[in-house]
This record gives sequence, C-alpha cells and structure tokens, in this order.
Amino acid sequence: MAEEAKGKVNWFGNQGWLCPEQGKMKTADCGICGSPMNVKRNVLGPTSWIESMGRGEHLHDSFTCPNFEEDWHEKIVKLKSEARNTASDKIKKILEEEVIEILEANAVR
Ligand SMILES: [Zn+2]
Repeated sequence: MAEEAKGKVNWFGNQGWLCPEQGKMKTADCGICGSPMNVKRNVLGPTSWIESMGRGEHLHDSFTCPNFEEDWHEKIVKLKSEARNTASDKIKKILEEEVIEILEANAVR
C-alpha cells in the first residue's frame, strides 16, 4: 500500500473499516485518521452489500477505527470523497487543508 508522507492526506486509504480474509492482516491503520484499528477475528457475516443481499456470509476479520463514529471522522470521509470527485486542483487543496486542520484539532496525527 502506498503511504504518503506523514502529515499529508492519504486519499486512497480505507474509510475507517476493513473486512479482510481471516488472518490476512495482523494490524491495520485507519485510512481516515491514521489510528490503529480495533480488530474482531473470525466474524461470520457478509463483507459487502452484494453479499448481504444474497444472504451470503463467510468468516472474516473485522477492523474498525476507534474514532469511526465521531462527527469529525465522518466529516473527513465526506471531505475526502468530495476531493476525489472534483476536477479542480484548487478545491482539492482547500479540502486537503481542512482535513489536516480537523486531524490536528483532534490530535490524532
Ligand atoms: Zn479513523
């Protein structure tokens, strides 16, 4: 996984949760705030919307960020998705600055 320099925003990281195959990942960091994620091993359930629609399920590991339900965390998810959807480098820069400000305000980086 390509990690950008510390202090920069990782635009391609996870959204604060991951459902890898069992035992595939030992630890994982949140792609939103960089915190080490909590893990539950050997969870039985669907790992995608499509699987849940088909009532499928299989064993997997479930990683979630401890900050996942915080308002500021949710805001970063939205800012990052806006940044991915804009064609403007200027807007992207403004969004990036705001993401970094939120991270600094919450002292997670
Ligand atoms: Zn996080």
